[in-house]
Amino acid sequence: MSYLVFARKWRPLTFDDVIGQEHITDTLKKAIEKNRVAHAFIFTGTRGVGKTTSARILARALNCEKGPTPNPCGVCTSCKDVLSGASFDVLEIDGASNNSVDDIRELRDNIGYSSMGGKYRIFVIDEVHMLSKPAFNALLKTLEEPPKNVIFIFATTEPQKIPQTIHSRCQRYDFRRIGAEKILERLIHICTAENINFERSALMLVARKAEGSMRDALSLLDQVYSFCRENLTEKEVRSVLGLVGMEVFERVMDAVAEKNAVPALNIIQEVLVQGFDLQEFIQGLQEHVRNLLFARIPGALESRGIELETDTIQKFEVSARRFSEGDLLRMSEIIKKAEYDLKWSAFPRFVAELMLLKLTYMDSTVSVEQLIKALGDPQQPSAVNIENLNNHSDSKKKSA
Ligand SMILES: [Zn+2]
Repeated sequence: MSYLVFARKWRPLTFDDVIGQEHITDTLKKAIEKNRVAHAFIFTGTRGVGKTTSARILARALNCEKGPTPNPCGVCTSCKDVLSGASFDVLEIDGASNNSVDDIRELRDNIGYSSMGGKYRIFVIDEVHMLSKPAFNALLKTLEEPPKNVIFIFATTEPQKIPQTIHSRCQRYDFRRIGAEKILERLIHICTAENINFERSALMLVARKAEGSMRDALSLLDQVYSFCRENLTEKEVRSVLGLVGMEVFERVMDAVAEKNAVPALNIIQEVLVQGFDLQEFIQGLQEHVRNLLFARIPGALESRGIELETDTIQKFEVSARRFSEGDLLRMSEIIKKAEYDLKWSAFPRFVAELMLLKLTYMDSTVSVEQLIKALGDPQQPSAVNIENLNNHSDSKKKSA
């Protein structure tokens, strides 16, 4: 691939570009302004949320020729060197492959040299939890007597593996998973700047699939871009990402409304033959049922902040009329349980089939359960149960 991948091309260069971590970037900016920067940090959080990116920005902010400044210029020699990885004063070490005590001793010797041109010497240790115990002990000695103008930034996905003695000498910052809406905003910004045509719903699929990781979102964007090129449609993105289409879920809902198990079970076969993942199918169905539930509440779909086409909203509304809110809530519970069971089951197909059978026969099983409850416990005031039964028969009338 000759073009620069989006994750690298669009790596944030200032604290303001780091999305969804304002609780950290604002604090760091203030610390720089007030000249109260700690000498050791732990940056923790799941992959792709901005830990090493923020570490690099902090390094540039401190060593910028116009700094220390919360807004590094990006054009001075120091800023450029840090960016290209050529700076002698900013060292990035991979904790996973440099985890021995000798590696840390070498690092300590290295720390002894004073800064080449910058104001600070900054050591970023990625995956620091991979260090061996003796390596941590060697590191601790340095942290106990921190050399002047040396700053450590430890990045990790597993902070619980860092010894308490190290922890207590560092300022800890917890990076959050990034919300799908924020990721979507960034994707829209990038696609607009790159002159890529897109359907908003297509980018929303990418944002959701990334599960809170900006780096994953940009890698996925690369993936769909290399297939769809300059025109990202929901249909194509769905197919590239292996996401099941809405019409499949609508067919499931038809089978449920008609209480006809056979077509529902056939869909599982179809999904598997087409190479879709069952987890993806069940998650998609959950999302679909949620949309139907929201479609029953006027204005609720719009309030979720997901812009849907008017005809998609209409489709949801028409489909949702066949079910009561109670029905849809119960379906949601059944699907949620299947989603959970699927993770542990040696027979995923059976979990999915059982879920569809439960959905198809839901009405009758629930009414029998409620009937037994209403009849079986004369001590309990049965008004609630009878009311439920009434609601239930209402919903039957509606769906009939
Ligand atoms: Zn600069």
